[in-house]
Amino acid sequence: MSAPTPTSEQYESLIAAALAAKEGSYAPYSKFRVGAALLTVDGQIIKGANIENASYGAGICAERTALVKAVSEGSNKFLAIAVSSDVPTPSISPCGICRQFIREFCALDTPIVMVSSVYQAGEYTASKEGDTTVTMTLGELLPMSFGPGELELERRP
Ligand SMILES: [Zn+2]
Repeated sequence: MSAPTPTSEQYESLIAAALAAKEGSYAPYSKFRVGAALLTVDGQIIKGANIENASYGAGICAERTALVKAVSEGSNKFLAIAVSSDVPTPSISPCGICRQFIREFCALDTPIVMVSSVYQAGEYTASKEGDTTVTMTLGELLPMSFGPGELELERRP
């Protein structure tokens, strides 16, 4: 079953939230700010930013920050995700760990919108590639993925 498609107004709000979420970034080492925003099935928007650590491996990405916030507060179904950085081309996509983390909570047809740092309100387009956004589904970003359903498969040792 597919989730309902977000409206263009919801996409605009989601993108604005992903851009604003960068303000919460703690990136003293990489100086690479990332902001993410999730649209929950009940219409809430939850933001996250990357949070680095002096022990580099302990850092956490914006997407996982947003998901951890949302899921721990009781929201675990999402209609769309937006990701932004300070890079003007809309080419910054979730890293491999985040794609897998998103897979736990989102259907494979969930749209993931990658947003340019110079995005202006109203520029969202439903087409896959706009000037300031690129939208791909989770399934496109993480083909042949392993998710909760695979653990239900019959096993014959
Ligand atoms: Zn990541």
